[in-house]
Amino acid sequence: MSIVLEHYNYLHTIPELGFQEFKTSDYLASKMEAAGYRVTRGINGTTGIVAELDSGVPGPLLALRADMDALGHIIDGEHCARHTCGHDAHSSVVLTAAQEIIREGIVKKGRLRILFQPAEELGTGAIAMVEGGALDDVDMILGFHLRPVEECVLGEAVPAMHYSASSTFEVTFHGKPAHGARPHQGVNALEAAAQAVMAVKAIPLPQHLTWSVKATRFLCDAGVTRFQIAPRCVEI
Ligand SMILES: [Zn+2]
Repeated sequence: MSIVLEHYNYLHTIPELGFQEFKTSDYLASKMEAAGYRVTRGINGTTGIVAELDSGVPGPLLALRADMDALGHIIDGEHCARHTCGHDAHSSVVLTAAQEIIREGIVKKGRLRILFQPAEELGTGAIAMVEGGALDDVDMILGFHLRPVEECVLGEAVPAMHYSASSTFEVTFHGKPAHGARPHQGVNALEAAAQAVMAVKAIPLPQHLTWSVKATRFLCDAGVTRFQIAPRCVEI
């Protein structure tokens, strides 16, 4: 079995949520130390890791970065973590690359820095790493995200792939509850919110650009547990 699969098969069994990647970061840091890197654990009080290799010859500082955290799910009513975004694979690939780089003696000048970042899914892990000095003196950084079945499948290559940042906002629709038999006496927040979802979906965006807009959550509060009352509040 290849080394990368060995790492992946282990990391896949220990999914941990953002900033709680204790077993994951311990595994990665130990392997990096064993490979010969100077490893700093606990960056900025998190589970983040910075590992460095210095050629001893002046030159640029290149960084490779992977994320470590899993996603939170509710499965059969239980809250749990699962590696459904592939960060176990990212860590495995970068760890294997780091080991191979040492084995092959590739770094002839400058320094190589390997970053294992926590809490990508929470959106705050990168900031914690940057504020902890992980990017100080870095001239160039390379990171990646697996896309195994979409833009570039296994065995294919593309000259460039661009990703967008994301931002979110919440909207609350306030209605006026009414008995389901007399809807004209109230304002049905659910109907208004449903219209808004479809209106957002109807925004025409060029398909060749890497952006999209969509509703991803719909919470309806009827204020009572009976179906015959039109809801008073919907959050999107
Ligand atoms: Zn991800």
